[in-house]
Amino acid sequence: MRVTLGWARCADNVADILRRGAWYPIVEESADGHVVVEVRQQRVRLSRTDVTIRKEVPDHWSVVVRTGVLRPTMGGRGSDVVTTYAVCPLCHYRQDVAGKPASVKCVRCGANSPVDWTETC
Ligand SMILES: [Zn+2]
Repeated sequence: MRVTLGWARCADNVADILRRGAWYPIVEESADGHVVVEVRQQRVRLSRTDVTIRKEVPDHWSVVVRTGVLRPTMGGRGSDVVTTYAVCPLCHYRQDVAGKPASVKCVRCGANSPVDWTETC
């Protein structure tokens, strides 16, 4: 078990650096309101206000709901599509979820983890 200061998950405005819904280990905390997280073997410095921090090891799939507009093809009308996917707490694999399962098995690492539905509206 690695020793970590906690785990950070990014807010939407920094989602281009960190994967949405994924927790990253905090390797350093500075007094000026920043945390350093490890992302794919690289250290990324973030403002604490841009991340959600938890102390416990994440053990639930995070749910990310994405809304987009489907481009009309073949003469059809454009329509709103809502894509829901879950992010594996162990390997950060993104997996589509259908319905609202209580737990999902990761196709990549094989872990069966409960799904955290509390953050979706
Ligand atoms: Zn996994």
